[in-house]
Amino acid sequence: MINRKDLVAKFQELHGREPRLFRAPGRVNLIGEHTDYNGGFVLPMAIDKETAVAAAARKDRIIRVHSINLEDSGEFDLDAETEREKGSWLNYVEGMARLLERAEFKLTGADLLIWSDVPGGAGLSSSAALEMSIGLALSEISGHAVDRTTLALIGQQAEHEFAGAKVGIMDQFVSANAQAGHALLLDCRSLEFENVPLSTEDVAVVICNTNVKHELASSEYNTRRAECEEGVKILGKFLPGVKQLRDVSIEEFERYQNELPDVIRRRCRHVITENERTLKAAEALRRNDLTELGRLMWLSHASLRDDYEVSCKELDLLVEIAGKQPSILGARMTGGGFGGSTVNLVERENLLEVIENISLEYKRQTNIEATILVSDAGGGASEITV
Ligand code: ADP
Ligand code: MG
Repeated sequence: MINRKDLVAKFQELHGREPRLFRAPGRVNLIGEHTDYNGGFVLPMAIDKETAVAAAARKDRIIRVHSINLEDSGEFDLDAETEREKGSWLNYVEGMARLLERAEFKLTGADLLIWSDVPGGAGLSSSAALEMSIGLALSEISGHAVDRTTLALIGQQAEHEFAGAKVGIMDQFVSANAQAGHALLLDCRSLEFENVPLSTEDVAVVICNTNVKHELASSEYNTRRAECEEGVKILGKFLPGVKQLRDVSIEEFERYQNELPDVIRRRCRHVITENERTLKAAEALRRNDLTELGRLMWLSHASLRDDYEVSCKELDLLVEIAGKQPSILGARMTGGGFGGSTVNLVERENLLEVIENISLEYKRQTNIEATILVSDAGGGASEITV
């Protein structure tokens, strides 16, 4: 847990004045995988881990920032160009600052102190949490109320331009717009969204990190994007007006699927059925039917494994182990795949026992320790008090 008092005390010690405090959460995607770049639907929730930023304005136009997690500092001048190496974490901070200014939100200089308990590189989007908390801090202390969707789009652009990661909009969007106790259904094309109630009173959301990352991820990601485009091209010949797989209904897919080569057919089937599952999952949540959400999650995993082929043996193993636990309502890989985490719905009554079973069995079969995290559905980016 972040200790907000300690963060403020440390800021005072470093800078000799009172900061304001801002926070933004990491996230996990419950369902709707590889649908974002096909213009489809996703259903993530914010986790209850966050990045907090203590911030105070400066009289000049210098941004000075320190990360407690990385024990590293940096600074840049809003009125001068900076040369920075590609992989540096400072790119996220600078990206937010420069892009806010490009969007006509003139900033003051600032002293910033960052502290986060979102595990980094675990597929929980510590980068979006960093972008949204920094973006909120910089804009607020400069006297701007930037709407959350604009902030999310600026965060996505910061990843593209400053961090060199061609990400979709989901992570920043949910980190900015989530509501505690809710998942967020997002239409990745129109950016319309709905906060859908997610009660974790009886059922816990459990995230299991395989702690493996296979090299394939980025090359296969590009291949999948191309395969989806190929599918759109072929289906578009029969279905004029289809611009993205999002536009193809299951009935239309079934009518024309034989026109597609086998691999393309399976890729399309995943995306089209996953969109349908995601809408059904939101529907299930609206009536608090977590059993139905769980059922859709198992189906989502099978589709990602067999049709989209982005799983790996460690993810499949975690889902297989989950399948043998009667207290688990549903489990699936979450995130891009080829490693990373699974997300599980577990009845609270047997939570500890289930977690122990999963870690023991995973360790026994792989010799790897899984990292397991239980999270409520948290709120989005906001200013906080100590
Ligand atoms: P993920 O978003 O899945 O956690 P990424 O590789 O997209 O993984 O983002 C992780 C990067 O974000 C880190 O390598 C670092 O550059 C930056 N970052 C995240 N949290 C912090 C933090 N608390 N302090 C400094 N940099 C951070
Ligand atoms: Mg990230």
